Order: sequence, then C-alpha cells, then structure tokens
Amino acid sequence: DADGEYETDGSADPSVLLGTRPVADPVLASREQQQRRDRVMASSAERYYDDPPQFERGWDTRLVSTTGRAYLDMVNNVTAIGHSHPRLADAVGRQLHVLNTNSRFLYEAFADVSEKLLAHAPDPSLDAVIPVNSGSEAVELALRLARAATGRRDVIAVDEGYHGWTTGADAVSTSAFDNPHARGSRPDWVHLVDAPNAYRGPFGGEDAGARYAAQVREVAARLSAEREGPAAFICEPVLGNAGGVVPPAGFLAAAYAAVRAHGGLAIADEVQVGYGRLGAAFWGASTQGAVPDIITVAKAAGNAFPFGAVITRREIVDALAREGMFFSSAAGAPASAVAGAVVLDVIRDEGLQRNAARVGEHLFDLLEGLRRRHPLIGAVHGMGLYQGVELVRDRDTKEPATEEAAEISRRLLARGIIVQPASERQNVLKVKPPLTFSREDAETFVEALDIVLKEYA
Ligand code: PLP
Repeated sequence: DADGEYETDGSADPSVLLGTRPVADPVLASREQQQRRDRVMASSAERYYDDPPQFERGWDTRLVSTTGRAYLDMVNNVTAIGHSHPRLADAVGRQLHVLNTNSRFLYEAFADVSEKLLAHAPDPSLDAVIPVNSGSEAVELALRLARAATGRRDVIAVDEGYHGWTTGADAVSTSAFDNPHARGSRPDWVHLVDAPNAYRGPFGGEDAGARYAAQVREVAARLSAEREGPAAFICEPVLGNAGGVVPPAGFLAAAYAAVRAHGGLAIADEVQVGYGRLGAAFWGASTQGAVPDIITVAKAAGNAFPFGAVITRREIVDALAREGMFFSSAAGAPASAVAGAVVLDVIRDEGLQRNAARVGEHLFDLLEGLRRRHPLIGAVHGMGLYQGVELVRDRDTKEPATEEAAEISRRLLARGIIVQPASERQNVLKVKPPLTFSREDAETFVEALDIVLKEYA
C-alpha cells in the first residue's frame, strides 16, 4: 500500500482462509497416511503434537493440510518470502531447464547471488562468499575458516545456543536437540559463557551487556594464558532456542572486541535472524552495531531451497585454501543460487525488512498488551518478526510454564495457528513467521492467543 506495507493478496487463492474457530480434532490422518508416516523418520512436529497435520500446499503465510484446512504458519523463518512465491517458482524452473550441476566451476547464478549478498555486507572488509547447503554446514565451515586463519582450535560459545546438528556445529550448541554434548560429553575445545539473557541469566540491569561480555574476555584471556588462545567466538545475535532473547545493549560489540584482543575471530550465526527478520537491520549483529569477521547464512537464504553461505574476508578464505581444498558437491548449484538471488530481490522489492520492522512493532505492542492482562506471560522477547512469548507460573520466581506452553501451542493449532515452543526454553512460544506476515495476521494470532489464555486460566 501507500505506506509500503505488505498486504496479502487474498484473491490469489480464495481457498486459503483462516478458520479461527477450534475444531474438535485438528486432523485425523487417514489410515494410509498414518502408515506412510510410520515408515519415514518422525517429523519434528511429533515433538509437539500427537497427530500433526500433513500439509500439501502453501501460499504466502498460510499452509493447507491434506484435509483442506488452512493454517497460519508462524514457525517458518525458512520460507521468509512466503510459501509458493511465483517469482521463485518461475526463476528456479527456468534455471532447471538450462543448467543445474555440481560446484566444480563458477556459474553465473552463483556469481550473481554472491554480488547481491555482498551488497548487504555490514562492512566492505567482508568481501568473499562461499556457498553451502544448510545452516549446519555454514557453521561447520565458519569454524574451519576461523581455525585455518588463526592456527588455533579453541572456540568460545554461548550457553543455550543452537548452531546445527553436524559434529562441529553440534559441539558448540547446548540447546536440547537431544544431542549428546548437552548431556555432558562436550569436546575440550569448546568453552561456554552464560547466555546473555537479562530476564533469566545472572546479570540484568544497565550494565548487563558489559558484564556478559566480560565473561567472554575472561575466557579468552584464560585461553591465551593456558592454551593457544581462542580461534573464535560464536553467537547468534538474537538467541533463537533460548526464546528469541535479545542480548542486553553493548554485549555483542564488546564480546567481539574481547575475542579479537586475544587474536580470535567473531562469528555471527545469522542463520535464523539475518535477512531483515529483525526489521531494524539486515543483519542481527548490525542491530547491535557489531561487525563480525565471519557470517553464516542459510534458512531464509534459499526460502527452503538448499542455499546457504559463509561471508567473510578474502584473507580468511585464502588461509583455508592454503590448508587444502574445500569442496561441497552441490553447494551453490545454479538452481539453488537462483533461489538465493530471487529471495534477496523479493526482500528488496516487497520491502520485507521494513514490513518486519512495522508489523513486528505492532505485534510486540499487542503481545505486551496481553502480558499486562495475563499473568501467565512473564515476558515478551525479541524484535521484528522474531519474538518469544515467555510463559511462567509465577512472575516472581519465573518458574517456567512448560506444560502450559505445550498445551497452548496445541490449542492454537486447533484454531489453525502454528506456533511452537522454543527447543531449549520450552516455556517460550516462538513467533517467526514468513516476513510477509501482515498486521491482520498479527491481530489474528494475538486474538486467538488471548482466547486460549482465557480458556486456560
Ligand atoms: N544456526 C542456527 C542459529 C540455527 O537456528 C540453525 C537451525 O535451526 C542452524 C544453524 C542449522 O541450520 P540447518 O538446520 O539448516 O542445518
């Protein structure tokens, strides 16, 4: 519209209408569907719902189940430009007719998306892009680059972080994705500092950012004194699995300065919160005035095509090249790279970062309104279209209302709204819809949450 806000074109698919009344039993999968489901590995939805819907279509912020019911999708920061975007479908289809192959040579599509990504670089010193297929792979490569550039092994990571499921990414993650390191067998090269969470962590108040960063400085100093020194500090600029927690002011820039003072590199894991999701800036680290040495991207980067990347400095890439060859067969393949370029074009052309800022602010205000009326809401975290509604049994003790969050998420599903608890802080309902999420979508969600919270109380 004239304000540049994103509006859903409801006429595009009239069957995609939201049912806001609850249905007794969300979806009864047919016997045949159930048997198929038993043969494949359980989807992560089974963690949250007894009988999750199966989806067969998507449009913008809506998903449609095999039973024909439409749902508002609020757990999807992968399909950032919305489901079934026609520009994406057309461009990828065209590329598939022309060329899609392994990454042995440089293809125009990858050169194009790299230039578009570097146009967003938070600093001109970040001038190199390496393609990967997923967030885990991006983190794995980021760690390897940092080690090659510094000649060291040790990495400082943040408690309650999640960086992926592959061996290195898993080692620097503590989030309870049922990984063995979370249960105590973390490799000796990983060094944890507290999650910079002013609501729950050891430090709150005005100097919280500096105090959390001081922990990074202490660990870096200890690593310099007792070992080789840190290769890197890795952190999500907003903590995803901890519930969309924004670190207190000044944390990230001070933590980066601390690790650099000891010869290490700063890795910003932007897999969840980059690409304009936070509204205030294209990169999460930029919302805090911090410039990393290495940035990881995936998820939104391909809108569910396997396109991700590591953005860094040429000299860091050269250090890795001196060690040996880096090769990942289909990383940056032309069709995925085209998807990556279309995502960036759509974010620009449809003003999706600005939409995330405006709708995010509206949503935050509405949720704050709910918090004032419902004692079960202890805090609203996050910014832009990345927020967390933290449920507590008691506002003073902050006892996590975990079962309550699971039940509320199930009741919202029955109303056609998909919102799930964060995987580490399971008492936080995470809000991370496509960036096309409209004000009306935000209102639909908050109204439903209001009703469900009243019912529940
Ligand atoms: N980094 C962060 C911050 C993530 O949230 C995730 C996935 O949730 C990953 C890395 C791993 O990405 P992928 O699932 O694409 O391997």
